[in-house]
Amino acid sequence: MTHSEMKQYDTQVAIVGAGIIGLSCAYYLAQAGYSVTVIDQGKVGAACSFGNCGYVCPSHVLPLTEPGVVSQGLKSLLQPRSAFRLKLQLRPSFYSWLWQFARRCNHKQMMTSASHLLSILDLSRNEYNHLFQDQSLQAQWKESGLLYVLQTQKGVDEFSETDKLLSDNFATKAEFIDSSVLSSFEPALRSDLAGAFYYPNDASLKPDQFSSALAKSLTQRGVQFIENCQLDKVHKSKGRIESIETSCGTVRAQQFIFATGAWSRSLEQELGCKVPVEPAKGYSVTIKSPIDGPQKPILFPEHRVGITPFEDSLRLGSMMEFVGFDSNIPKHRIKQLFESAKPYLINTLAEDYQHSWMGWRPMTWDSLPIIGYVPSLDNALLATGHNMLGITLAPATGKLVAEIITGKKTSIDISAFSPYRF
Ligand SMILES: Cc1cc2nc3c(=O)[nH]c(=O)nc-3n(C[C@H](O)[C@H](O)[C@H](O)COP(=O)(O)OP(=O)(O)OC[C@H]3O[C@@H](n4cnc5c(N)ncnc54)[C@H](O)[C@@H]3O)c2cc1C
Repeated sequence: MTHSEMKQYDTQVAIVGAGIIGLSCAYYLAQAGYSVTVIDQGKVGAACSFGNCGYVCPSHVLPLTEPGVVSQGLKSLLQPRSAFRLKLQLRPSFYSWLWQFARRCNHKQMMTSASHLLSILDLSRNEYNHLFQDQSLQAQWKESGLLYVLQTQKGVDEFSETDKLLSDNFATKAEFIDSSVLSSFEPALRSDLAGAFYYPNDASLKPDQFSSALAKSLTQRGVQFIENCQLDKVHKSKGRIESIETSCGTVRAQQFIFATGAWSRSLEQELGCKVPVEPAKGYSVTIKSPIDGPQKPILFPEHRVGITPFEDSLRLGSMMEFVGFDSNIPKHRIKQLFESAKPYLINTLAEDYQHSWMGWRPMTWDSLPIIGYVPSLDNALLATGHNMLGITLAPATGKLVAEIITGKKTSIDISAFSPYRF
């Protein structure tokens, strides 16, 4: 494209990144009456927000920064098939991120992060109730809870401690399902499992369908989407962004939101601030709904794999690999997903899979999202770093961003999510 062919777009709010976070921000801002333009270097909703497990899980209050995670990570250097995996890399920024992460893997920091997560999880769960009253948003929304199934008594005993911690400190209580009644509770499960914990307030949706539904509804409301359009440069003047230069032209706006997920660190130079987000790769495989397959979303914590049943398909998802932006999907990882679920299900899942997928989660070192104004830029907001909870936290993030931009008091205290903390 020559300079004279470059387009110019004028809008009130420009959003960079059309994952679930950018889309949610667009939704709440359009509702507040703003004209919004969303750009993405790829397709709408096609990155990490596409093939994930789709849990909306307020039960995930505890952050990844738990005691013991560091030793697991170190062991994984020698165990390439471990669900949690680290690979040595040449980037110094990766080691600085790991160091900050490791420092927080203790009980005190875990409880502090969990208390901040609790407030945004609650807000988001409530927002989901309002959101799905909008009949145009069809995304296989199911309020059928989340079942954590344990194979061994040791697993049950360990998970009981987590459940007690959640219930004593965060009012997040599960119902214990004894092994004798487990297979009547979820008939797809084997009868020799040790037990399960059921979190009734959790829910699920089909993530790609949710992004498409939001994008369709937003397009009808006049939101403009520009796909295959990469942010190249930010033009600043007097502590404000005046415009952004993209591969499709110049976008001028009053406010700019950067919802760039795992790629957020690449903005550091342009925005002049730290955005320590690391990509953590996960995989899923989606097969045709098996006969007598699970009806409820299920997690198997001992094998670190999750299952989500959709209307005509079933998804298995797992793994967390700190391997940089490596998009390879090794066959053995997909096989491992099937193998991990096998000890729990009556029927073996057919491996003639429909679709295998990988996505990069946007990970922060304190397990908290980054929401708020960029230091030293009056009209630039970050909405990123949602770790393993982007689908769960999307509506709260959209609502909070709209509240910040409209100058309202935010629904919850967001100081812990501030970009200033870096
Ligand atoms: C296996 C797996 C299972 C998961 N399961 C769950 C779950 O059950 N529940 C849950 O809550 N979360 C889950 N997650 C996490 C969730 O998927 C992410 O937290 C979420 O998708 C992040 O959304 P996002 O919008 O920030 O990022 P993305 O969806 O990755 O979107 C970011 C967008 O920004 C665009 N972008 C980046 N840089 C630029 C640029 N310079 N110019 C233009 N565009 C740019 C990208 O193209 C991309 O489309 C899971 C993740 C994985 C991998």
